[in-house]
Amino acid sequence: MIEFQQVGKSFHGQAVVDDFSLAIAPGEFVVLIGRSGSGKSTTLKMVNRLVEHDRGRILFAGQEIRAFQPEDLRRRMGYAIQSTGLFPHWTVERNIACVPELLKWPAARIRDRVTELLELLQLPPDVYRRRYPHELSGGQQQRVGVARALAADPDVLLMDEPFGALDPITREALQLEMRRIHRLSGKTIVLVTHDIEEALRLGSRVVLLDHGRIVQAGTPRQLLAEPASDLVRDFIGRADLGLRLLALDTVASRMRPGPIEPNNAPALRDTDSLREALSTLIARGTSQLPVADATGTLCGLLHLSDLVQPSA
Ligand code: ADP
Ligand code: MG
Repeated sequence: MIEFQQVGKSFHGQAVVDDFSLAIAPGEFVVLIGRSGSGKSTTLKMVNRLVEHDRGRILFAGQEIRAFQPEDLRRRMGYAIQSTGLFPHWTVERNIACVPELLKWPAARIRDRVTELLELLQLPPDVYRRRYPHELSGGQQQRVGVARALAADPDVLLMDEPFGALDPITREALQLEMRRIHRLSGKTIVLVTHDIEEALRLGSRVVLLDHGRIVQAGTPRQLLAEPASDLVRDFIGRADLGLRLLALDTVASRMRPGPIEPNNAPALRDTDSLREALSTLIARGTSQLPVADATGTLCGLLHLSDLVQPSA
């Protein structure tokens, strides 16, 4: 869907992206992560030509991006940024409708699309459609920013720290929504963050950048289990390695399945992460808990020792 071939970019003679090669398949959720100044935003902006690359090639749908009109490219790639970039004197509805308006969609279709997106991002349309950005919380503004990026149903979503500057709870809620949207839509998403938790939670592939170069690209599990260098280990945080690995697996993957006699102990959910399960076990002061499925039926048991190694 998007392919970087030895791409480079310099500002004032200084390379900020260097020999960057990465092929992003349709439907992937790629997270670019790295310290501030490592070249993440520049890399993202080269994709929709907000910044022009000066070495190598960037292909979109098989064609060098310079073959596209920048406007055409931007209509096919939604772009959401931390500062939301909402127009302050426009209602939420008009802000979201921005690209569909440019594409001259009929008014009724635009209205329906705005309703659909507000519902998708859990902003009741009747309440929020006519509000102005300053009448929204930061989290609601960022939702509107995401809705606007999705409005014309682009093939690709480019997101630059879209949940930055949010409190942890709102941030996690929006991350869950992004995962849901990705699952439902199968869109190709490239997201920039400096938050390793966010990267490991969202990315089907995580790309760690340092000084404009790729240090390691792989699944969250590969980065955790086979870090390519000390820089990767440091970035992930050595102390939290075990907990981060637990966060990647669900209770269902390690529980001892089987019918359980109902008792009064509140159960774990089979879809909880093992990290959440560990936290619950410790908080309840117990070494085992029953596991319930979506219907509330008890379907197995999780022991503390199952967290250390699979009970197979
Ligand atoms: P990140 O998003 O990882 O924090 P950026 O891609 O924004 O990093 O920036 C990478 C480097 O390029 C930084 O050193 C930054 O100062 C520099 N840079 C970014 N944009 C410009 C620009 N328009 N002009 C000059 N230098 C820039
Ligand atoms: Mg940046």
